[in-house]
Amino acid sequence: MNNRTNYHTHSTYCDGLAPIEDFVKEAIKQDFSSYGVSSHSPVPFDTCWNMKRENLPAYLREVRSIKDKYKDRIEIYTGLEIDYLDAEYNPSSSEFQELPLDYRIGSVHFLKTDDGYVDIDTAPAQFRETVVRYFGGDVRVLVKKYFETMMQMICTGGFDFVGHADKVSMNALSCLPGITGEIWYKSLIREYFEFISKKDCMIEINTKAWRSKNLFFPNREHFGLIHKLQIPVVVNADTHHPSLVNDGRFDALKEMLSEGFTHVRQLSGGQWVDVEIII
Ligand SMILES: [Zn+2]
Ligand SMILES: [Zn+2]
Repeated sequence: MNNRTNYHTHSTYCDGLAPIEDFVKEAIKQDFSSYGVSSHSPVPFDTCWNMKRENLPAYLREVRSIKDKYKDRIEIYTGLEIDYLDAEYNPSSSEFQELPLDYRIGSVHFLKTDDGYVDIDTAPAQFRETVVRYFGGDVRVLVKKYFETMMQMICTGGFDFVGHADKVSMNALSCLPGITGEIWYKSLIREYFEFISKKDCMIEINTKAWRSKNLFFPNREHFGLIHKLQIPVVVNADTHHPSLVNDGRFDALKEMLSEGFTHVRQLSGGQWVDVEIII
């Protein structure tokens, strides 16, 4: 077993750019020990990036058959990145718990407003419009609501690990440079990770924006705190194109080592295990 793993992948079932098998073939080519597929879950309204509910059975069948086809070369796992919307619709909902999944990612991409759910994982210009329209023009109000929603999701549970735990930082920074250095933000982040640790949650270090924006989620400056709080970490590339299955992994592991991490979580034989980081 090596540290080449990735459990966050979007294929053409949602907003990914290639069929599932192309990601798996690339992972085999790059000598991965295990690989996970995790389409965006269906949500009860239309979006251009969530999987359609009627496609779920075909998705599960397809991963199962690819798993079988390549079983002598790589361990394949069936996952789903499930949106937390509210106390009723989230990873712990029976609809998601009853699916034959190997693992579940809990993520927040939508915030509840008086006008329904609003997507905050958008292009910066649309994010700024959202701040003005739903959050009184104050990005700090949106950021607080995001972490409050994340904490509600963590309380509700039903997932294996938290997806991109502070992704809002990317759009918040584009709206208000320096916001993540403000005292209230830093103390909110500390409380947030202490809460995650108390709840015994696993989180991912998401490397999707590392190459383009020099950002990990959680941001690099929190790695020390995460290590100190002994929060288990899995490194994922949030891959939408097969060429990116390993994107940012080496840099994330290197940065983890420099903060004192010695192990990373991976799936092996169907179980989450701590594997020594060797780069
Ligand atoms: Zn996501
Ligand atoms: Zn994702």
